[in-house]
Amino acid sequence: MMKTKKTAAKKTVAKKTGQKKAAPKKPASKNAAAQQKKPAAKVKTTPAAPMRGKLLAAEPAPYRVENRNGKAAGLVICDHASFRVPRKLKDLGLKKTFLKRHIGWDIGAEEAALHISSVFDMPAVVAQYSRLVVDLNRAPDYCECMPEVSDNIKIPANAGLSKKDKEKRLNEIYWPYHKAVTRLIDRQVAAKKPPLLLFVHSFTPHMDGELRPWHISVLWKKEEKIAKKVVQTLRAAHPGLLIGENNPYALSGERFAGSSVWRHAEDRNLPYVLVEFRQDLVDTQEKAIEWAEIFIDAVRPVLRDPETFADRKIKSGKN
Ligand SMILES: [Zn+2]
Repeated sequence: MMKTKKTAAKKTVAKKTGQKKAAPKKPASKNAAAQQKKPAAKVKTTPAAPMRGKLLAAEPAPYRVENRNGKAAGLVICDHASFRVPRKLKDLGLKKTFLKRHIGWDIGAEEAALHISSVFDMPAVVAQYSRLVVDLNRAPDYCECMPEVSDNIKIPANAGLSKKDKEKRLNEIYWPYHKAVTRLIDRQVAAKKPPLLLFVHSFTPHMDGELRPWHISVLWKKEEKIAKKVVQTLRAAHPGLLIGENNPYALSGERFAGSSVWRHAEDRNLPYVLVEFRQDLVDTQEKAIEWAEIFIDAVRPVLRDPETFADRKIKSGKN
């Protein structure tokens, strides 16, 4: 079964990378093009009225854990899996079509993450609310955690948020999610199986008017050795791929201090790989699985290498 998938994946890659046509197209819709040309929209500063009651009353939990009892030393983490908005927040004042665009979530990331979790037999933590409600991959006090503007689109319900409303999102979504990740990591550390953390994201092929041509990208800060090994394996297996290294952004800047990858991996001294798939390549379940397979094959050598886990002074989690 694996062989069939692998073959299919390779065919797709060859099809997509043997020519330069694989580079993403410019946005087709007039709307999207217009959005890109516009300067950052002004945001009204009138504080929003504080919300009463619980944000998630009668709503799904902020996260779910799949394959909880997976046996491998590892954990798959998908911070941007969903574009769901709690009903009380009324789609954040946006049209649903905007929520479903890249600003609301990482298209294809959940499908890829679940496949990786299943093939490697690792638990997966999957976020269940949009990054526009609260971005789990930013520090809680950083401006992009509840952004007022994203890719030049104003987020009306995030303009002038009160401290109380911010705390509500943090207490009901952000902290429960990160606590769940910490608990799953701690369980493996306690069982003397320090996990390899696999952070699964996807990136839009165009942002702020710039094209982002990479097919797949690996990002790192401290864990360069692991990341380079994954990149090398990807290159050897798929010479036609354009592989990003710390693209389309780097993890080292202030923007990522306190992010999910810093909090759970960098700060705890745990091995990790952060992958970014290009969204137009993973926008169906079938395509997401094909690209997940490509990534899985590149991670296997790291997972098998005892050096990945050796000589690590693992620190305790902070939440
Ligand atoms: Zn993401």
